[in-house]
Amino acid sequence: MSALVKLVDVSKRYADATALHSTNLSVERGETTILIGPSGCGKSTLLRLIIRLIEPDSGSIEFDGEPITSDTIGELRRRIGYVIQEGGLFPHLTARANVLLMARHIGKSEDETQNRLVELCELTRFSVNLLSRYPVELSGGQRQRVGLMRALMLSPELLLLDEPLGALDPLVRASLQKDLKEIFARLQQTVLFVTHDLAEATYFGDDIVLMKEGRIIQRGSATVLRERPADPFVLEFINAQRGVTLT
Ligand code: ADP
Repeated sequence: MSALVKLVDVSKRYADATALHSTNLSVERGETTILIGPSGCGKSTLLRLIIRLIEPDSGSIEFDGEPITSDTIGELRRRIGYVIQEGGLFPHLTARANVLLMARHIGKSEDETQNRLVELCELTRFSVNLLSRYPVELSGGQRQRVGLMRALMLSPELLLLDEPLGALDPLVRASLQKDLKEIFARLQQTVLFVTHDLAEATYFGDDIVLMKEGRIIQRGSATVLRERPADPFVLEFINAQRGVTLT
């Protein structure tokens, strides 16, 4: 199996702090890879580097075997879907216009985009009757479904999800978790999913990458992390999520 995305010795500093130390990571095709770790450990930075919202200070990132550079990212962004915690929808555009934005921008035909829109509404279980609403007129869960439709509009090879369910209440969150998992399986989607919640990570998959202070500490299934922790921090993180205090 070949990796769709490969980071080689990638690092990133902000003014006085290193957000990501020299890091290697591969994202395998058709798999859901989970990035997990405490707030501030560099998860979002890693996603932003892949989609080139920020430039790495060192190292290279390959997508489908080709290095991502500022020259190639324009075209590559059409092959990458990106969803952030609050959905990142444009407030002055309806749900429909948000979803169709990129497709219209690159000149897709109306017929093609309308068909795709109906397909996406079915896939994400979003009522077509709500497409004319503005983001403020939708619930948090509905907004995330629209964000997901927008990200999937151009059938991206890679889906980057940055705590997409973090702002939702538990019931809505559980229902979206279930739907997302089904969607990933149905599309055989390659996904890089950021969360700080271990239960969510475990629900989505076996391939968990645990980070701390800008470094990957361990990669493996929840069972491997628990039974063969590579560092005392791994158990500390797992136990903290269970509400257990280590002595
Ligand atoms: P996470 O997503 O795991 O919460 P981030 O990738 O957002 O972590 O942040 C990693 C580190 O980089 C944190 O210490 C954060 O404060 C810092 N950081 C992130 N974005 C910026 C920025 N634009 N300017 C300065 N520091 C930043």
